[in-house]
Amino acid sequence: MEKTKCLIIGGGPAGYTAAIYASRAGLDPILFEGMQPGGQLTITTEVENFPGYPKGESGPVIMDNIRAQALHVGADLRSGEVTEIDLSKRPFKAIVDYEKEILAESVIIATGATARWLGIESETKYRGFGVSACATCDGAFFRNKTVAVIGGGDTALEEASYLAKMCNKVYLIHRRDAFRATQAMQDKIAQTPNIETVMNYIPKEILGEQKGFVKQVTGISLTNTKDGTEKSLTVDGIFIAIGVTPVTDLFKNQLELDEQGYIRTQGVRPLTNIPGVFAAGDIQDPYYRQAITAAASGCKAAIEAERFLNE
Ligand code: NAP
Repeated sequence: MEKTKCLIIGGGPAGYTAAIYASRAGLDPILFEGMQPGGQLTITTEVENFPGYPKGESGPVIMDNIRAQALHVGADLRSGEVTEIDLSKRPFKAIVDYEKEILAESVIIATGATARWLGIESETKYRGFGVSACATCDGAFFRNKTVAVIGGGDTALEEASYLAKMCNKVYLIHRRDAFRATQAMQDKIAQTPNIETVMNYIPKEILGEQKGFVKQVTGISLTNTKDGTEKSLTVDGIFIAIGVTPVTDLFKNQLELDEQGYIRTQGVRPLTNIPGVFAAGDIQDPYYRQAITAAASGCKAAIEAERFLNE
């Protein structure tokens, strides 16, 4: 059975940064990149606030660079998903892709978060047929068409801005009368003529038609959150951008989680309730959720792993 001093789970900014620090500390880390190598930045368009890129850069390029840096310093980055883990005793035992066992003296969890969905039946029915959570992935299907983006945070406004470059019209639908996104993003939206904001509305149903196996979105019905009135908009595609859910299924009943499902860490230190197990990035951060804060916590987790192994 393979053994490692440091197992890193997740290939986003937190995981790769942990790999850079752990490699340079001589921990010979093995990192499994999981289902989405590069993490959420790979489905982001322009990133203007990651230090070191004075003119901004696309999310995938930034992630490629961090990944390349981890490889450069000797990290062992592998495709594969940790599908089971036993944190009850050391060395910790992980199973990769349901079959390969690996023993680890320390574990850094950096599995991040995934897109949240509205949870209505019609959303499930039309997911992949006009309903998406990723404008970068699916936007091109809606060139010269009309789409709606749901949400009021930075992701929603960024998606709307990206889609506005290729779509005729973008409705930005938010449940309150004020956006939560940064002022810079709000200003950008206000200056984009083909984005129409639809405030104080939540989706009631996604409208569509089905011919045989072919399904297609035709519109969205909305309920006003202030007075309960309803209206419908004609759209060809709908992008859901209402936040994220931490990917903690693997660790439930083993690690302490907070009420929202994030792994509890100890103040500024990325320590979990199990010595030798550390959590970095969005998996333990409901507050900041930035690539740069994820990278910083990956750095801290690797330093803590090094200290733990030295002790
Ligand atoms: P978020 O900030 O949590 O915003 C989620 C939005 O969706 C909120 O406006 C929320 O409404 C709305 N919402 C939640 N559940 C809903 C539901 N069931 N129905 C309708 N609307 C719903 O999530 P995010 O935009 O994904 O951003 C996550 C973090 O990443 C943030 O810290 C953000 O700053 C960061 N981020 C940064 C960048 C960047 O700096 N380039 C880009 C993207 C994201 P309420 O406002 O009413 O709660």
